[in-house]
Amino acid sequence: MADYLETLYPGYGQRLQIDELLYEGHTDQQHLVIFRNALLGRVMALDGVVQTTEADEFIYHEMLAHVPILAHGAVRKVLVIGVGDGGIVREIVRHAGIAEIVAVEIDASVIELCRTHLPLHSAGALDDPRVRLVIADGLDFVATTDERFDVIISDSTDPIGPAASLFSREFYRNCQRCLNADGVLATQNGVPFLQSAELTDTAQRLAGTFTDWGFFHAAVPTYIGGSMSFGWGSNSGKARATELAVVRERFAQSGLRTRYYNAEIHQAAFALPQYFLELIGAAHKVP
Ligand code: SAM
Repeated sequence: MADYLETLYPGYGQRLQIDELLYEGHTDQQHLVIFRNALLGRVMALDGVVQTTEADEFIYHEMLAHVPILAHGAVRKVLVIGVGDGGIVREIVRHAGIAEIVAVEIDASVIELCRTHLPLHSAGALDDPRVRLVIADGLDFVATTDERFDVIISDSTDPIGPAASLFSREFYRNCQRCLNADGVLATQNGVPFLQSAELTDTAQRLAGTFTDWGFFHAAVPTYIGGSMSFGWGSNSGKARATELAVVRERFAQSGLRTRYYNAEIHQAAFALPQYFLELIGAAHKVP
């Protein structure tokens, strides 16, 4: 039986047994593999990096979707950058109050291949009438759109290849431009234990762009190296400061049934380990 060896880090990585190869090939942007692993279910990897598995995707997608949406409290319009497997859109459409979801993806074939070989991730959400799929580079979209959003979620791959631009000051500046008054940007920002520069760099860029910024975190087992950081940027401190009792009430009102997210985890996720704080603090020492 063949193995999938993750190549994100030199000298350290995870090995996943390929119990059944479902798809392997090059799209016009990336190398894509989807396979079944007895323990993790179906797994998708892009350019040698595990993107998502059926076993633990709920942690990542629930946190990246529900923390900004329930912190904001009155979301009507959402922008998603990096649609990929569709898991984040699946979590967003569960919020009945959301009227419109613009979903921007640079590589259409990832969406189509995941619909076919990873169907439980999108679970039909991409066909929700509120979802408008746009095939484009997220950097270009936020630079040129005249639409405004209550929440922007950047669910991108790591800053290698097509997603590198989604970690740039230009991208954050244009997201800030596209947010409504109390709007929130939430981003996938890597695993600081192994991608420490990503936390420092993003902290510096967010600090120079948003009046309220920070990070929250959650441990996703197949994003190896401990807790994954999520970036946060907003033109107001209101959402991030939402009281626990209010988040509890909104969570109850939402009718969401989750497997990871709850109001206490929401609040606790903003309490960061000391080594995160030191990496973030380093951003202020960078000239
Ligand atoms: N949840 C996964 C994670 O945390 O690593 C990633 C989700 S999904 C696989 C990431 C998607 O971002 C991929 O489909 C990729 O094609 C897309 N992507 C990468 N760069 C992009 C860009 N510049 N604009 C829009 N989509 C992009």
